[in-house]
Amino acid sequence: MIKLENVSKVYRTSEGEVRALDDVTLTIEQGQFAAVCGPSGCGKSTLLTIAGTLGTASSGKVAIAGSDVGAMSASARAHFRAHQIGFVFQTFHLLPYLTVVENVMAAVVPDQAADAKQRAGEMLEKFQMGHRLNHRPGQLSTGECQRVAIARAMINRPKLILADEPTGNLDPANAKEVLDLLGVFHQDGGTILLVTHEEEAASRAQRTILLDQGRVVSSP
Ligand code: ADP
Repeated sequence: MIKLENVSKVYRTSEGEVRALDDVTLTIEQGQFAAVCGPSGCGKSTLLTIAGTLGTASSGKVAIAGSDVGAMSASARAHFRAHQIGFVFQTFHLLPYLTVVENVMAAVVPDQAADAKQRAGEMLEKFQMGHRLNHRPGQLSTGECQRVAIARAMINRPKLILADEPTGNLDPANAKEVLDLLGVFHQDGGTILLVTHEEEAASRAQRTILLDQGRVVSSP
């Protein structure tokens, strides 16, 4: 599902170059739930950004779901990303002026639109958000916001979810609920790459990839 071959990422800043990823070779099989761990600044978010086609590698090859994303134009990549990948972030990124259901629907791509509203309603119901459909994010708890963000990530039925510290802003009870929802996605055959520094979250994964200074130091 995710295949990185000798991937490096160099950021150029006024103070010089930062090698955020250094010759990373990694395969995440379809249906795998993998955690990415390591100290702050080791390249976890950069790895997720590249796997999510939000950023491009400075060198090396990146294939997602069998497609060479490095060879795609920016618009082809955006189309690919919208159809194939769901994103969950620590800070939710919900649109404050849209309701819960509108936030989920805002992510729908045209070829998934037919029954999307019904799917959104059913999913939010399953996520214990049925009573909040017409609320705005400002009226929700942080745990509820993350459940909406997960529904949004899943609305196009992606095979891959990339999650960057999805429980970082949540209390233990809400963190557990979020991890349970990701667990169900995985049990249904989905692939997950989860960046986390929390043991509880990492323990849900089948595999932990450990990064240090842009390099994979352990990837059982
Ligand atoms: P992590 O997620 O593990 O904290 P990051 O991937 O965010 O690590 O960052 C890896 C390294 O790349 C860090 O040294 C960070 O400062 C640097 N970095 C990340 N993004 C940028 C950027 N846009 N410009 C310059 N340096 C960056």
